[in-house]
Amino acid sequence: MTLEELDFVCRLRNSRLDLSLQPGYILITSARNPFIKPFLTYKRAIQLRQNLQDTEATVITPIGKAIRSLSIDGARPGAVVIVTSSHEISLVITFATCHYIPFVVQGGGFSTSGASSTHGGIVINLSIMRSIVVDLTSQTVAVQGGATWDEVDQAAAKEGLAVVGCTTSAAGVGGTTLGAAIRGAGQSFGVVTESVMRAHPQRPSVFGGFIYLPVEQLTAVVEFANQFDTQTTGDEALFFGFTTRPRAPLSTVIVALLLYNEPSIAAEAFFAPLLALKSIRNETHEMPYPKMNTILGWFVAPGTRKSISGTTFTPPLDLQLMQEVHDDFDKFTRTYPRVEGSAVVFELIPYTCVNQISFDATAYANRGQYHNVMFIFRWYDQELDMKMVNLERAMTSKTRDRAGVVRIAGQGVGSTLNSGPTWWIRDTEIWIQI
Ligand SMILES: Cc1cc2nc3c(=O)[nH]c(=O)nc-3n(C[C@H](O)[C@H](O)[C@H](O)COP(=O)(O)OP(=O)(O)OC[C@H]3O[C@@H](n4cnc5c(N)ncnc54)[C@H](O)[C@@H]3O)c2cc1C
Repeated sequence: MTLEELDFVCRLRNSRLDLSLQPGYILITSARNPFIKPFLTYKRAIQLRQNLQDTEATVITPIGKAIRSLSIDGARPGAVVIVTSSHEISLVITFATCHYIPFVVQGGGFSTSGASSTHGGIVINLSIMRSIVVDLTSQTVAVQGGATWDEVDQAAAKEGLAVVGCTTSAAGVGGTTLGAAIRGAGQSFGVVTESVMRAHPQRPSVFGGFIYLPVEQLTAVVEFANQFDTQTTGDEALFFGFTTRPRAPLSTVIVALLLYNEPSIAAEAFFAPLLALKSIRNETHEMPYPKMNTILGWFVAPGTRKSISGTTFTPPLDLQLMQEVHDDFDKFTRTYPRVEGSAVVFELIPYTCVNQISFDATAYANRGQYHNVMFIFRWYDQELDMKMVNLERAMTSKTRDRAGVVRIAGQGVGSTLNSGPTWWIRDTEIWIQI
């Protein structure tokens, strides 16, 4: 790579290349380094607005109040540009690179690492570019970079189709596609203005929903879960674990989310051992396919500080470990006030189809003959931030050490989520990814 090429890549990745330090040495500094001052002066922001005056783009500067609600991760951008076309995006990038101003793209804004925010740079906000075109003949869905999965699900379902998406349908298509689908993609690699996805025939309704069970049923639930991989036909999924009891947050219950891509009769036969258990509340029923994809929305419901961490596991799960995970979680909910909605979720999704795609075909490396488990903590008090991170880290480590998989060549990376705490602030919210 020549110096010019390196300089170009650095600028695209919000970094600066400095050759002046010492002969033979190159210093690359990241825009996220807190010692680097914001780059975009107000004067430059006005210049940017003038550059875009003949377009439909809206340039929001810190003088306007709106910028606060468009900043994520506590960062204060120099300007947020709400773009409406590829041409406008191109003008913004040309302006930013000419003036050495860092820029980021913001799709759905779901990055837990704050990757779609910049302190002092330019945010290219795609929130208006969210058109979706479903083409029945080619069985494809063309989606603009700012759309969410929920919007894609709704549009595709109208034509009896579905695409492979995200379990949290409020997330943006842009970031998810870059993270999981496009080989070699990453932050500031380029701007995805539109992606075309293969669609698949999808029945209009599926069976599913939450069941809440008393902890006394743990043995039966774990026994069912341990047989899931051998029983599944590929059309079922089961998320299960622990959460606070609805309307009685000081006690812990087992929560199970059932999904079957079939009508109720077949689903009830598959999940019969679980459905037969005496439950606290059973919310399962047939529902439209797009609604099923919104059901995990409580993960990201606004109003609380949150952290999310995860690891992997391979069944069979040890009952003793599951009892300990319950006891740790129960102690946590009894010790700290207002942590309702926190959860530990073991995700059983059939992996046969996912593993048929070769590992070098996509950027999605976390797949193999194992499953993910997520720890989602929710709380209100800022003073508890580090306490929550440490507690969650301890529970994650215990599960990883006793049930997780290590990296196996050719069988995925054996880990979910990156290591190292990162923070996500959305308006008044903070997410911490461990
Ligand atoms: C609770 C939760 C559950 C999740 N579940 C899943 C899951 O089931 N499956 C899964 O695959 N992922 C999952 N994710 C991860 C999610 O897909 C990523 O956080 C993704 O990056 C979100 O995309 P976004 O557009 O909303 O994010 P943003 O914060 O807008 O962007 C994330 C990154 O992508 C870049 N980017 C966004 N849009 C574009 C674009 N159009 N062109 C170029 N760069 C762009 C941004 O600059 C940033 O670097 C989950 C995340 C959370 C918080």
